[in-house]
Amino acid sequence: MTSTPPIRIGVAGAVGRMGRAIALSARGREDVVVSVLFDRPDFAGQTPEGFAAPLGDVAAALAGCDVIIDFTAPQASITLAQACAEAGGPALVCGTTGVSEADEARLRAAAERIPMVRTGNFSLGLNLMLGLVRQAAAALPARDWDVEVFEAHHRRKVDAPSGTALMLGAAAAAGRGVALADVSERGRDGLTGARAPGAIGFTAMRAGGIIGEHSVVFAAEDEIITFSHSARDRSLFARGALAAAAWVVGRPAGLYDMMDVLGFKRGDG
Ligand code: NAD
Repeated sequence: MTSTPPIRIGVAGAVGRMGRAIALSARGREDVVVSVLFDRPDFAGQTPEGFAAPLGDVAAALAGCDVIIDFTAPQASITLAQACAEAGGPALVCGTTGVSEADEARLRAAAERIPMVRTGNFSLGLNLMLGLVRQAAAALPARDWDVEVFEAHHRRKVDAPSGTALMLGAAAAAGRGVALADVSERGRDGLTGARAPGAIGFTAMRAGGIIGEHSVVFAAEDEIITFSHSARDRSLFARGALAAAAWVVGRPAGLYDMMDVLGFKRGDG
């Protein structure tokens, strides 16, 4: 029996919540091995609590990994993606949210030179829900059915709405054949006036240790449909990111998402 060597993974933001969850989820797996753990440049060489060895740095990850998994912060992700692109690899799995449209364009440019999986949510269930929301939005006329996206996350989350909420809003907009930017309604406060026809509204709650709650409500005058997803453990995203890492190594350069990794078909709404 031939055995393929494990995929060597670098973890950016290794000290953070997601970085730690990824390193933990990779333990005991035979298909992947965490080769380099690194965080901010000034952390290199330090051994944070709970770590068995000192942290590495980005140069070690570029040289010694097949793929880097990155859950950090927008500027850190852009810098890392550009470094991977300039070096012609490794591949990248990027889950950082709160990235501006201009910076998303920079990530897309980097993905012209390396294979990259980029998504605001790595869960199977949530990605399935995206397809259902798109189908519902295509079937339910906008003049009768209002769409609202609710999300709740822990008190330390720094961006809103969540990347996942925006993906759900984009799925509803795609089902209706409109651009989310043209119909998005955010941050209602005070005398807002009546709801604009066709608007897709967003509400964000920040409290306690909530890992990730998302609902999409389709509300007509006398009936309501709610799709909802609840993340119970961060390891859910870590497992999805590891699956994406194993999937992306060896692919042609380009930008992929979880629909590609999971083999879901697009445009079926
Ligand atoms: P966190 O603050 O716990 O961790 C971020 C880590 O990145 C920190 O340890 C920080 O020191 C590190 N970092 C900052 N600058 C860096 C740099 N230049 N190089 C390397 N590391 C650097 O945050 P978290 O909860 O782990 O989330 C990280 C990101 O992932 C956020 O944007 C969050 O919204 C997103 N997220 C996405 C998903 C998803 O499924 N796509 C799931 C959970 C979290």
